[in-house]
Amino acid sequence: MTLSHIEHIGIAVTNLEEATRYWEDVMGLKCYAVEEVKDQKVRTAFFRIGEVKIELLEPTCPESTVASFIEKNGGRGGIHHIAFATDDTNTALNEAKEKGVRLIDQEARPGAEGLQIGFLHPKSTLGVLTEFCCKK
Ligand code: ZN
Repeated sequence: MTLSHIEHIGIAVTNLEEATRYWEDVMGLKCYAVEEVKDQKVRTAFFRIGEVKIELLEPTCPESTVASFIEKNGGRGGIHHIAFATDDTNTALNEAKEKGVRLIDQEARPGAEGLQIGFLHPKSTLGVLTEFCCKK
């Protein structure tokens, strides 16, 4: 597979407004988009730093996987996943699968910002929840 760069770092937060204030006031970044991704049961806020984005993820309901992450993390947010840009998410998922990696998504699905995304299972990736994403 060909990964071109880190597209974004996903960070789980318990309160999107409070987290946005931190990233703006302390870190000096500007939130340029807030979007609800119903499929993933999250609200997201995006910040750009160079070519990389910070994606804040606030669960919209207790059934959200981000809600379980926060619960397992002692009720606090934290680094949730790393997303790598690729030219084709399905190809990257299939190549990982061929190499014995367990997939969360068997096929690419729509994510925030109109990207096609797919996740690898952290049990197969040394504990790092890994996302592939591409623009088509
Ligand atoms: Zn992501």
